[in-house]
Amino acid sequence: MPNPAFSTVLRVALPSPLRRLFDYLPGREVPSQGWQPGLRVRVPFGRREVVGVVIECASHSDLPLAKLRPISAVLDETPLPPDWLWLCRFTARYYQHSLGDTLHQAMPALMRQGHPLVGRTHTLWQLIDSTCIDKTSPKQPDPLSRAPRQAALREMLQQHPHGLAGRAIYAQGFTREQLRALEEKGLVASREVTLAAADPAVGELLATPTLPLNREQAVALAALHERRDDFHPCLLEGVTGSGKTEVYLQLIEAIARQGRQSLVLVPEIGLTPQTLARFRQRFCVPVVALHSGLTDHERLDAWEAAASGRALIIIGTRSALFTPMANPGAIIVDEEHDGSYKQHDGLRYHARDLAVARAHHHRIPLVLGSATPSLESLQQALSGHYQHLRLTQRASRFPPAKLELVDLRHRPRQGGLTPIAIEAIKTTLGAGHQVLVFINRRGFAPTLACHACGWLAECHQCDARMTLHRHPPLLACHHCDSRRPLPDACPDCGSGDLRALGAGTERTEETLQGLFPKVTVHRIDRDSTRRRDSFEQVLKEIQRGAPCLLVGTQMLAKGHHLPHVTLVVVVNADGGLYAADFRALEHSAQLLEQVAGRAGRAAHPGRVLVQTLHSDDPHLRLLAEQGYAPLARQLLEERRAAKLPPFCFMALLRIESPKEAAALALAQQAAQALRDWLADRPVRCLGPVPAPMERRQNRYHLHVMLAADKRSQLHPAANWLSQWLQANPEARKVRWSLDIDPQSL
Ligand code: ADP
Ligand code: ZN
Ligand code: ZN
Repeated sequence: MPNPAFSTVLRVALPSPLRRLFDYLPGREVPSQGWQPGLRVRVPFGRREVVGVVIECASHSDLPLAKLRPISAVLDETPLPPDWLWLCRFTARYYQHSLGDTLHQAMPALMRQGHPLVGRTHTLWQLIDSTCIDKTSPKQPDPLSRAPRQAALREMLQQHPHGLAGRAIYAQGFTREQLRALEEKGLVASREVTLAAADPAVGELLATPTLPLNREQAVALAALHERRDDFHPCLLEGVTGSGKTEVYLQLIEAIARQGRQSLVLVPEIGLTPQTLARFRQRFCVPVVALHSGLTDHERLDAWEAAASGRALIIIGTRSALFTPMANPGAIIVDEEHDGSYKQHDGLRYHARDLAVARAHHHRIPLVLGSATPSLESLQQALSGHYQHLRLTQRASRFPPAKLELVDLRHRPRQGGLTPIAIEAIKTTLGAGHQVLVFINRRGFAPTLACHACGWLAECHQCDARMTLHRHPPLLACHHCDSRRPLPDACPDCGSGDLRALGAGTERTEETLQGLFPKVTVHRIDRDSTRRRDSFEQVLKEIQRGAPCLLVGTQMLAKGHHLPHVTLVVVVNADGGLYAADFRALEHSAQLLEQVAGRAGRAAHPGRVLVQTLHSDDPHLRLLAEQGYAPLARQLLEERRAAKLPPFCFMALLRIESPKEAAALALAQQAAQALRDWLADRPVRCLGPVPAPMERRQNRYHLHVMLAADKRSQLHPAANWLSQWLQANPEARKVRWSLDIDPQSL
């Protein structure tokens, strides 16, 4: 009889694309509380050692025990948080992704590397008691009388009797040297505290008082309060500037008063420093922000603070959805329609959709907030699955401005701007206000053309044109990032008559600077704001309120409160009107409404000019005349009639290869095999078809689409396809991915 204690097999999830677990034997080391699922272990894997998570403790393996290798080390004393493990397993299953890879992506980098979780300490600096010098005593001259910065540091530490972390000290403008000097003089000492032992936030909660709510806000908040202890999904549909954030803040306050945590997802913290600042201003308790600027240690600290329940307010972008919480109280997804919630490579999850699953699992309220809800969420609200809360009034005096369509046909343009737009800009600047010119193209011009023969600057690697840039001068492909110097003459006919075609941000900036030489023009796009804080600097300057011109891409459209902007000009609204992707119209309507929402948010009413070649397009007219809400409802009816999401569920198989024939062969095989398997099952299989941009970076892209009326019908098919691909050696010769609920084609 083999001893069961020795025959225990550990089934471990490893960071590998293979969608399976790997069996190991326990090593010599035994965890203090015995083997349990959720412990991180270090194991040999091929010739490497990797960090994995024990998922099951089994009594046997399909492999002979003699073939199994023992694990090398146990990394945790207690299992990782069970709710977090649940979320990772749910995510892996739903998105047909490897569990090990999902776990790895959901962990901070240091945990992935095997860094221990418990017992992490940090250093606190504290005054030594006797240094509270009685300055009036004449016998004891102050040792710091000639070191004013050190004296100032001492004064600051006096206000923090429990000590301050080095990071907090340096953030106040003091240096390491000043701290060391005080230490050498015997005035301060450091002490190590474990993070787990640190106190939960206690005491005062609010740093600044709440605003008295208007009627609609109060109704929304009351509805959220009423069902605080149950899964309660709500769509908070509120026009731009209607005070959604204030509703979030007051909900979070109530949740925090119960000692429970709120998780707030925002599209991009770097782009909306104001949102974070508002949270920090409101609350005394720390607001843990997860963003790309954190160091690995800060990220791990944040994870632990959330996992232990110490952090009451957690705010972050897409990946923050995977933050564990000991006492979850609410999840809020701000700007829920935003495309950045969907990850577009690897694990292609949608943070908003996972937020729904997570709130359901925790039985807590979920708030999806937007001025321009996604059709998915809107449909859930209209059909009664989500509570529909609406804010129709702006907190400030003026309602959102109507869009005025400006016909581009037969009108001269300067830097993309019609005379009507230029006149309006002049008037607005004359009145001492600011103007936002929105143009969804960075660079100088969308492309370079030969006027003699019609040649266009095309990318050699993609089915796309190259963008003309002036600073520095070059041609760049925005799809594959390849660059070329500007040609002196047309490569086809030799003519020197090469001209910039259309306008990008650089060109519009140049034109406006020429037209209004005395006014500052701020250009805001990925090229102008590469430096980490430059965007924040510009935003600050804009907020000071001097008349100026802002020229920018959608970076400017998202959530910013620009109180002095009273005119918004959209250079060209036509991008999404006739695109191949069925979501393009929804997305461009959202963007237009968000950009328009920047105008007239404070003391003066706003005006929005939208230039278009299709001023009689019925969708655009509906948006202009009645706003996003009626358009969204009409688009829903069109989707219903066409049986498109949200009235069906989709999965997209993407296949790519440098060899067109290889991609096509696999795509055809996969589609055929799937159709054979589907037989009479209620799932439709479309394709293979070439991707909208078939050649990108010299790789050929093909799609096979699955669609079904119900998620429960789609998933077995997606799962079968995933298994088929994994088992097929041909599939290893190309790159493939399966995208569940794809957001773009
Ligand atoms: P949203 O998130 O819907 O765009 P915000 O919450 O940012 O709107 O509110 C827009 C502006 O109105 C902010 O300056 C905010 O301080 C102010 N505000 C919001 N609610 C109120 C209120 N109840 N009373 C007064 N001002 C408010
Ligand atoms: Zn030519
Ligand atoms: Zn390219």
